[in-house]
Amino acid sequence: TQTFADRVTRVEPSATIAISNLASELEADGVDVVDLSVGEPDFPTPQNVVEAGKQAIDDGHTGYAPSNGIPQLREAIVEKFEADGLSYGTDELIVTPGGKQALFEVFMALLDEDDEVVLFDPAWVSYEAMAKMAGASIERVDLSPYDFQLEPALDELAEVVTDDTSLIVVNSPSNPTGAVFSDAALEGVRDLAVEHDVMALSDEIYQEITYGTDMTSLGSLDGMEGRTITLNGFSKAYSMTGWRLGYVGLPVDLHEQAAKIQSHSVTCATHFVQYAGLEALTNTDEAVAEMRDAFHERRDMLLELFEEHDKDVATPEGAFYMMLPVDDDDQAWCEGAIEDAHVATVPGSAFGTPGYARLSYAASEGRLREAVERLADNDYI
Ligand code: PLP
Repeated sequence: TQTFADRVTRVEPSATIAISNLASELEADGVDVVDLSVGEPDFPTPQNVVEAGKQAIDDGHTGYAPSNGIPQLREAIVEKFEADGLSYGTDELIVTPGGKQALFEVFMALLDEDDEVVLFDPAWVSYEAMAKMAGASIERVDLSPYDFQLEPALDELAEVVTDDTSLIVVNSPSNPTGAVFSDAALEGVRDLAVEHDVMALSDEIYQEITYGTDMTSLGSLDGMEGRTITLNGFSKAYSMTGWRLGYVGLPVDLHEQAAKIQSHSVTCATHFVQYAGLEALTNTDEAVAEMRDAFHERRDMLLELFEEHDKDVATPEGAFYMMLPVDDDDQAWCEGAIEDAHVATVPGSAFGTPGYARLSYAASEGRLREAVERLADNDYI
């Protein structure tokens, strides 16, 4: 019989698959499912970005690009990072086919079997999968229940981070919680990273989607330059999930290693897509603000609807996710909510935090209202 590599067999398939399979089966039977399980904005890509992509094809940018990205985009990213207080040079950037690929390259370049990664729970599912593929071991620290803040978890973090720790992963605004971490919390991470000489990865892919509290880039804190990997991308901020474009800033020696993985695997991010990315980065303030405002209104509406049903939900300060407290058996709750109420959500246990369901409010106000009504009518809230 065929055997497979340990690096893949030790990774579990995503726990969200059961939910999306159920949703697809129902939809195939003609059932109208309100799908709040997806992690992508429901807006079209801004038209000027689409045009820039088309123009780049017409201009013949259809061959290989430089492996680390076209110079114009790299320059624009350096400037964007500078505005966030981050000082990565053009030789410390990789433009990748999606932020996920950037993360994969970093994990593979940095981690071996004897390395230890610290994750905060709930955490986005792919960090664990990538750490496992790299063979690293994982230490998990619980964020505070209900509002999922990092500051209350600093004491526990201090017990977990040692000189043997290789990487701490921070994601603010967070998927799945929408929490934005305070400066004090980030400073706590910084202090431990400096004390134990540990690298930190700051996943800032939801940076543009915050409602009042701007997020701070971890790498902008004193002492973090040279030890911070900053991940960002175009999927969420500019509604460009399917274009597959992301980027990462990383210290030059790590860059050298990670760039080898890019060049020997995907070669480069799609050439003409990078021109669309350049347009997105430099000329979409208005479209980004419109999407942010829409998410903000939906968040407020959802919170109000849950309040009307006496359901206490923490106020997420960013991204487009909300953690709804549900039964301890959140997997059963989510499966039931699809079967009975035809509302698809993701169980918190998929992110290491049972007892919650993650809702994405990247859906119209009408659909969100419908979802809450259905959950209430079927006694799920
Ligand atoms: N990081 C987080 C926290 C995410 O939620 C996602 C997408 O779901 C990504 C990174 C990667 O996004 P992409 O590969 O589309 O850039």
